Order: sequence, then structure tokens, then C-alpha cells
Amino acid sequence: MKHIVVVGSGFSGSILARKIAEELRYPVTLVEKRRHIAGNMYDEYDSHGILVQKYGPHFLNSNHYEVMQFLMQYAELFPHCTKMFSFIDGRHVRLPFNFETVQQLIGPEKAEGLLAKLRKAFAGRDRVPVLELVDHSDPDINGYGHLLFEKAYRTYTSKMWDVPPEKIDPYVLERVPMAMGYDERYLNKDFQYLPVKGYTEMFRNMLDHPLIDLRMETDALEGLELDRDTRTIRYEGRLVDCLVYTGAIDELFGRKYGMLPYRSLDIQYEYYPQDSVLPIEIVSFPQAPGYTRSTEYRKIMYSDTGVEGTVVATEYPMAYEPQAEVGNIPCYPVVTEESLSIYKKYRTEAAEYEGLFLCGRLAEFRYYNMDICIEHALAYFEDIRAYLMKDHD
Ligand SMILES: Cc1cc2nc3c(=O)[nH]c(=O)nc-3n(C[C@H](O)[C@H](O)[C@H](O)COP(=O)(O)OP(=O)(O)OC[C@H]3O[C@@H](n4cnc5c(N)ncnc54)[C@H](O)[C@@H]3O)c2cc1C
Repeated sequence: MKHIVVVGSGFSGSILARKIAEELRYPVTLVEKRRHIAGNMYDEYDSHGILVQKYGPHFLNSNHYEVMQFLMQYAELFPHCTKMFSFIDGRHVRLPFNFETVQQLIGPEKAEGLLAKLRKAFAGRDRVPVLELVDHSDPDINGYGHLLFEKAYRTYTSKMWDVPPEKIDPYVLERVPMAMGYDERYLNKDFQYLPVKGYTEMFRNMLDHPLIDLRMETDALEGLELDRDTRTIRYEGRLVDCLVYTGAIDELFGRKYGMLPYRSLDIQYEYYPQDSVLPIEIVSFPQAPGYTRSTEYRKIMYSDTGVEGTVVATEYPMAYEPQAEVGNIPCYPVVTEESLSIYKKYRTEAAEYEGLFLCGRLAEFRYYNMDICIEHALAYFEDIRAYLMKDHD
């Protein structure tokens, strides 16, 4: 019988544990160091009956039906299209920035000419990254790009990442492109859903399998030994055939090449007795001091029957500090040239272990949205299957 250990019960670890148990019929030891499953997707009902997401708001978006089909096995989903505002110069404007925002920010008269230019320059495109506007040869288009960049992206990025925009992975700035039209959807993905009973319930169902042995509040690093000479891995003294690791890659190797940087969040909750506080479910605050976003969770619940009052959660980004009281959860990998060069050293060493599979946003040091994370884990399962089945060929 193979000895298979999966570290982490976020999307990556939970999907792989379930697939290995269900399709390969191998027992899996799933080790989770937190007191709850679901990783950063964890949600719970607060004392007012509001379903809050403890590590920040998460919305399921995907263009792939297979992703939704996979999730629908474990939860009932309801359609929910994320809508956001950005609070700029004292007013709420649409996010993603779209044609309505052009009118709001430069006035209807000037907007008319610019919109005609934007339509022509980006014909056939739904969304355009702000850097394309900034770099455009037309002075009106690049002028508007600069205006957006200075009023929203530069300030938001420096608070969020604590790195000048020039140094950060361009992928980060491309995450909130401008909509070329009046589309109000934050993301233009085909499938936009939320689980009726929340994410934690979905993970509970996913992990409910007789071959999954879930060990909570257990730091896998305390039981893991990687022997570079023999290229073997042991867990609690026993040889491991396959280790799926979804924690931070630098921690797995004792940070020997240096610590990889992450951003964390301090999320402050405020309860209000009235039914509604924000004009929309999420408001982004690029110009506010210290905080970046506020979320009103009552507005994204499937049903708020019986709930009294509302809760607003405000996110204050901060550096990840493993030993700190606040900021000890690695939320977002800070991908820069320097951090990537450290990451590559860990990857090179990891490649020496045949049965080691690194999966997920911490182990792969990538900013994965959950749909990508799910697709990736499903594809990765095929590599694991091939590896575990090769002895049977
Ligand atoms: C604030 C925020 C908002 C987001 N919003 C969205 C959104 O709206 N839409 C979207 O698509 N994506 C969103 N994401 C991304 C989404 O959270 C990730 O794609 C997904 O959670 C990644 O899952 P994962 O399994 O790779 O990592 P994680 O969820 O981080 O899971 C890793 C797990 O491993 C455990 N672990 C680590 N080390 C050890 C160890 N040594 N021993 C035992 N256990 C260990 C951790 O405790 C954790 O449970 C958001 C992310 C954040 C931070």
C-alpha cells in the first residue's frame, strides 16, 4: 500500500486528496495546521447570523464548465455576479472602470471624444489592461490611462503590495482591466457563483471520504524529513511514496535560500444595527489611508432571513510575519524579480525528489485565482496518477 501525504486543506490539497482517495483508491493522510479546513476560503456564521469569509471575500468565477461541474458535486451553487465600486475623489465610481467611469471622471463633454477613440482603438476587445492605455500613442487615451493609474492603480498597488508598481509582476496590474463598454460585472467570466451554504460546507463534503484521514491542527513540517542524499521523504518516520505539498515552498526547505515575501491582511469587522451600510457589496478605496477594500457580507448571502443588522469587513494589507499576532497568514505572494530568483532555487531542489508534488499558490508562489487553482489541481492529478500507476505498468 502506498503512503500518500497531502499537506494543506485549501482548494489544492482538498481536491487532490479527494481525487487520490476516490479515483485511485489509496488512503490519504491530509495534514492541516489551522484549526479549520478550506484554507483561505474558510467562512463561518458570525454571532449575528451573517456568513463571513474570514480571510477576505471570495467569488467563484470561471470560463470552464468542468470547474463548475466538479464543484457542483460538493455544493449547491447560486448565480452571483460580483459588483463593485471604487471610491475616488469623494465619489463612488464603477469598478471595473468602464465607459460610465470615463464620464464620471472627466465629465460627459470630454468623455464623448475619448469614448469614440477608445471604441476605435480597442474594437473587438472586452477588457484592456490599464498599462495598455498608459502606453497608447494617442494623447487622449494615454492621458486617461495616466489619470486612472495615478488616481487608482498606483495608490492601491503601493498599499496592497508595498512595492512600486514598476517592480511588481505586470500580471498584478492586469488583474483589473478597464471594460470597453458599460459592462458592470467586476469580472467578465461566463460562470459566476457562490455556494448556498458557504465554502466550508463545500470543503467538508469534499473531504468526507472513508479513505481520507484528516489531521487538524498539525504542522506537517514537524513530521516531515527530506533526505537530499537518498532523495527520499519520510513522514513521522515512514517512507512516503507521494507527498502533495500545498504550503509555502520556502518553509518546506527551512528557508535555506531566504524567506519568500507575502502580503497578509488585517481584517477589521464593524457591526451596524441597520440593514445596509455600503452602496454595493464591495467598495475599493485606492486613496484611503492604510485600507484597501470594504465588504458587506450580508449583501452576498444566499438568504439573509433572520439576520439583524450588517457587518462591514475592511482590509488593511500588511507584510506577512509568521510569528506575528496579526499578519501571520500568507495571502498574496509578492512576485518580483528578486523573489522569483529565490523561488527558482527552491524549485530546483524540489525537483530532486521524484515523489514530491508542489501545488497551489503558496507552493508554486503564484497568484492563482481559485478557478485556475482548481483547473491546475485537476490537471495535476493526472501527473500524480501517472506517477503512482507507473509501478503497475
Ligand atoms: C483576500 C483574498 C481574496 C481572494 N479572492 C478571490 C476571489 O474572489 N476569486 C478567486 O478566484 N480567488 C480569490 N482568491 C484566491 C484564492 O484564495 C486561492 O486561489 C485559493 O484559496 C488557493 O488555494 P490553495 O489551496 O492553493 O492555498 P490555501 O488556501 O492557502 O491553502 C493552503 C493550506 O495549507 C495549509 N498549510 C500550509 N503549511 C502547512 C503545514 N506546514 N502543515 C499543515 N498545513 C499547512 C494552510 O493552513 C492552508 O490551509 C483570494 C485570495 C485572497 C487571499
